[in-house]
Amino acid sequence: MTRIPLCAPHLGGNEAKYLQECVDSGWISSAGPFVNQLEELLARALQAAHGVATSSGTAALHLALLVAGVRHGEEVLVSDLTFVAPANAIRYLGAEPVLVDCEVEHWQMDVGLLKHFFAQECQVGVSGVVNRRTGRRVAAIVPVHVLGHPVDMDPLVKLADQYGIPVVEDASEALGSLYKDQPVGSCGRLSCLSFNGNKIVTGGGGGLVTCNDQGLAERVRYLSTQAKDDPLYYVHHEIGYNYRLTNLQAAVVLAQFEQLPHFLSRKRQIASTYQQILDVPELELPCEANWAQSSWWLYTVLLKGAAAQRQDEVLRTLQSQGIEARPLWNPIHQNRPFQGCQLLCHQKSQALDIVRRSISLPSSVGLSDEEQRRVCEVLLACVKAG
Ligand SMILES: *Cc1c(COP(=O)(O)O)cnc(C)c1O
Repeated sequence: MTRIPLCAPHLGGNEAKYLQECVDSGWISSAGPFVNQLEELLARALQAAHGVATSSGTAALHLALLVAGVRHGEEVLVSDLTFVAPANAIRYLGAEPVLVDCEVEHWQMDVGLLKHFFAQECQVGVSGVVNRRTGRRVAAIVPVHVLGHPVDMDPLVKLADQYGIPVVEDASEALGSLYKDQPVGSCGRLSCLSFNGNKIVTGGGGGLVTCNDQGLAERVRYLSTQAKDDPLYYVHHEIGYNYRLTNLQAAVVLAQFEQLPHFLSRKRQIASTYQQILDVPELELPCEANWAQSSWWLYTVLLKGAAAQRQDEVLRTLQSQGIEARPLWNPIHQNRPFQGCQLLCHQKSQALDIVRRSISLPSSVGLSDEEQRRVCEVLLACVKAG
């Protein structure tokens, strides 16, 4: 019995050919034609004027927040239900995350909570918007498009504009997703992508910052290359980072990006098959808002009713049958470095309730029909047995 992975890369195109070109030309390091092409093509895909490739999505977030003006001791609003990377990036800057709970329909940042926070808990002064509880300036908002479904960006951007706060989108899981017919990642002042091994397109690792402001893009590029201030002499006016993507990684990302339409249609097909087979009372299935098109990066179901108490058993049963299934990420506020952070939520954390009932199912582009049938069989037998 072969093991069915959660989300394995599908290297079905020009990956080897482009890598060979790198070797033949000698362009293997942090500059080269594939890096330039990637920056241009992916920026265009996100309808941005500029793209700067980085060594990871986390590095992209770190630099995007830095150039957006986040300073030590300031606060950044970020989704509580997310992979930890954006919360870590906020901390790299010495800033404090303020965690925003999700809504229950699509599991994305609840914009109503943001609105309430600005209206009831902040005051607007000469230095900007200040959180009355802490006296700290609110420096940015980081909506994370979780699992590929977009955050409801129109009301979020309206609020951000009203209060003069920059939006940095984390679109790591949402390459190819649409928000009201616009590519996800095209609403914020800056947006970030990841090319980690399990993402929609991968380079083994890597990331990208996109934006429309040339000055910001140049600053990201400058900071990502150790802040070099002279092309010949080693002069540095600022602390820089070694955050550049290599031409080798860019070669693989580009070969992957050529297959994006195929990847997206496979992901959509996988989701629709799960949707049909798993429509039972014990499971709550994900759905798209009528203004959204998800990348369906990972297909995640929630256990419902009596089955809601049996997450661990279901996960272990799937594992024992060679099926890699995972819960969603422990909400940020549950993790030790972030336990003191302010959490914006209604009576209780929706993220926690969702995570404790969640099962992410195998969603690789290369998942066969046969394998998907087996996943459904094992899952249904298990939830029905309770
Ligand atoms: C994968 C991911 C990242 C970035 O991850 P890297 O491994 O650093 O490329 C950031 N945010 C989210 C939501 C992610 O899923």
